[in-house]
Amino acid sequence: MRTPLIAGNWKMHKTVAESVELVEALLSGLGNITDREVLVCPPYTALHALGSLLQDTPIDLGAQDVFYEDQGAYTGAISSVMLRDVGCTYTIVGHSERRQVFGEGDEIINRKLHAALGHGLRVILCVGETKDQRDAGMAEKIVTGQVQAGLVQVTPAQLANIVIAYEPVWAIGTGDTATSADAQSMHATIRQTLTSLYDEVQAQQMRIQYGGSVKPDNVDELMSQPDIDGALVGGAALKADSFLRIVQFR
Ligand code: PEP
Repeated sequence: MRTPLIAGNWKMHKTVAESVELVEALLSGLGNITDREVLVCPPYTALHALGSLLQDTPIDLGAQDVFYEDQGAYTGAISSVMLRDVGCTYTIVGHSERRQVFGEGDEIINRKLHAALGHGLRVILCVGETKDQRDAGMAEKIVTGQVQAGLVQVTPAQLANIVIAYEPVWAIGTGDTATSADAQSMHATIRQTLTSLYDEVQAQQMRIQYGGSVKPDNVDELMSQPDIDGALVGGAALKADSFLRIVQFR
């Protein structure tokens, strides 16, 4: 009932030429996929070139972040209007690197989410606890709080355009994946939070991705869990063969 979404977050990697090369390899290796969605989120500089290349293909284009204003004196920022203009249909918000390196808090993330939805973008809202928070037994409280804060003023009708990505911070880029049981347990907690914010039907319809060192050799096990509806992939999305294997999870 929930179509899995496999998304690649390329972070600050790849020139335009390298991005085109990777996407051409993905397109030629992808085959006919109808039961899952595929998304790539390259750096801003490659969006325009990939927007043309991905038109009418099974791969969607997304940004890694967005600013909450439409235009104005905001040096270095990119708006939802600009992302739509180059062919994006998705944006990530609240990635842990934005939260930690750029100091973004829940309120700013919620503003970004509303701006993106308001311009017809779909949003991947990232949440996840740090190692210290997990060790202190606070993981569920932190993640539940981030889900609640990220969804402030979101109407039930808007939920269809939101995907939640559970990404434990200690698993991102470390090779240290959450066990499938731990990931499933947190996904079930997130779905329970959605039920209490909205209702059971809405919560069951929402997709919750797992992110954090997803690789070809652990994707099948993760995706076999009942509440894991896709993957947000960093390092393993930078090479066509590993990303294609993740897309073709069994
Ligand atoms: C990410 O960038 O969101 C991520 C999960 O990275 P990695 O797969 O490299 O851990």
